[in-house]
Amino acid sequence: MSTIENLPATNFIRQIVAKDLAENKHNKVITRFPPEPNGFLHIGHAKSICLNFGIASEFSGLCNLRFDDTNPEKESIEYVHAIEKDVHWLGFKWAELRHSSDYFEQLYDFAVELIEKGLAYVDSLNAEQMREYRGSLTKPGKESPDRHRSIAENLDLFTRMRAGEFSDGQYLLRAKIDMAASNINMRDPALYRIRRVHHQRTGDAWCIYPMYDYTHCISDALEGITHSLCTLEFADHRPLYDWILDNISIDCHPLQIEFSRLELEYTIVSKRKLNQLVVEGHVSGWDDPRMPTIAGLRRAGFTPAAIRDFCERIGVTKKDAWIEMSVLESCIREDLNNTAFRAMAVLEPLKVVLENYPEAQVEQLEMSNHPQDETQGKRIVPFAKVVYIEQDDFADIPPPKYKRLIEGGEVRLRGAYVIKCNEIIKDAEGKVIELRCTYDENTLGKKPEGRKVKGVIHWVAAEHALDAEVRLYDRLFNVANPSAEENFCDALNPNSLEVVTDAKVESSLAKAELGSRFQFERVGYFCLDTKDSSASKLVFNRTVTLRDTWV
Ligand code: ATP
Ligand code: MG
Repeated sequence: MSTIENLPATNFIRQIVAKDLAENKHNKVITRFPPEPNGFLHIGHAKSICLNFGIASEFSGLCNLRFDDTNPEKESIEYVHAIEKDVHWLGFKWAELRHSSDYFEQLYDFAVELIEKGLAYVDSLNAEQMREYRGSLTKPGKESPDRHRSIAENLDLFTRMRAGEFSDGQYLLRAKIDMAASNINMRDPALYRIRRVHHQRTGDAWCIYPMYDYTHCISDALEGITHSLCTLEFADHRPLYDWILDNISIDCHPLQIEFSRLELEYTIVSKRKLNQLVVEGHVSGWDDPRMPTIAGLRRAGFTPAAIRDFCERIGVTKKDAWIEMSVLESCIREDLNNTAFRAMAVLEPLKVVLENYPEAQVEQLEMSNHPQDETQGKRIVPFAKVVYIEQDDFADIPPPKYKRLIEGGEVRLRGAYVIKCNEIIKDAEGKVIELRCTYDENTLGKKPEGRKVKGVIHWVAAEHALDAEVRLYDRLFNVANPSAEENFCDALNPNSLEVVTDAKVESSLAKAELGSRFQFERVGYFCLDTKDSSASKLVFNRTVTLRDTWV
């Protein structure tokens, strides 16, 4: 498993950084992770986080967390806090916490500089005209009649835009580049718009807001970022990134490098669509354990180490790649197999009475928390006359090769005794509701004499067991690429949550801390829910099944 400290230098971005440092282009590498606070982070962001923070740490550099907060209508402080929490939980420490809005005043001054150099102008085309003038991939754009406004007039109008003299949308500030450029991003892109919206940090101080492309490169440069890592869709924006920095008085010019986005099967990595799932109530919230958000994965029981391991395994390239959900699942399975305490839980209880076991006797059996790792300690599991086993572990009419309990047959109760089933009790409908058994008192930690017993099943003592609700989560979507559907919500898996309300779990779990993770032996990996679980009602979330059941 990879730790943050020992990431191998395997991807092309690390190679570029290593080379730049070797050539003394920089003393120190500085990266940044720049989320827009318009939703919770998802597993795709984890890829970017691991890359940016990983590179900084590997090369003894720094990584900033910067909120790219230039779209106030969709952003909120709630998202800011959630993002900080998630980055921290993933195991990373930012050098500085910044906001694009920290730079609003400087951004404004640079815009004035562009105007003074004749490289920006105030335009009065409306949105529809803008589209029409922009041209297309095959047709050059057309110059706006305002393109040749004088510098003095542009300065006056831009000052008055800021002062709030105009209505929303009445004017735009645009870069003056080239309306015939083959790259449409270079056809006089907008730099500022008039927008009267309250900003979560700057309040109502501004009624003009800078555009993303304009803001991003300048924020990078102001922070002294050396390598600005972003996803492939920004490759076409790189000429603009460079144009802006080349034309303002700033001496830092970060290198933008693009890599491919993570696309994960059977889920969705888009804040906008995840927001729709929340708003329309398809899930219980951003932290619903089925969500591919960091908060959802955490609540489901994922560990930071498993997510970092996943990001390391998928690698960083320029090729679009769909990753199978099983890759993520096997990361968490491996981690929990090594680290999760074992416990016993019966999801569908069947009562077993051990007729020859003394009525009032209770044995406190000592069991290992982890069978392969004694350092994880031991726990006490009570054993008594009445126990529950899983309904599935008894067969009235056994299929061929059935190794569990049958009438007249024997099975071992894990960590306890071999029992034999003598009699089945059924209800009026013929359903098996109780088994009358006997136990072999010479089989505690010993093989039975003169015969072989193959099956081993889990159990809990009826009187000591705790009631629990167990939430069995499955994949959120039924199709590998829900985004390709006309309406992605139609592809939701209607069986993505099954709630078991009357499970029985062993008594040692009364002491479990919220969020702690267990392997329920033979059942799967589970996590004590951090939101709905309480001392009076334990709630467990299934993190992942023991084996890959999807193939
Ligand atoms: P979304 O569409 O989900 O909002 P975004 O790219 O608009 O994604 P930002 O908050 O702007 O989200 O992203 C912050 C950083 O995370 C950016 O550098 C972005 O490139 C990166 N990022 C976002 N989604 C992915 C992904 N699926 N894979 C890798 N990196 C991603
Ligand atoms: Mg975005």
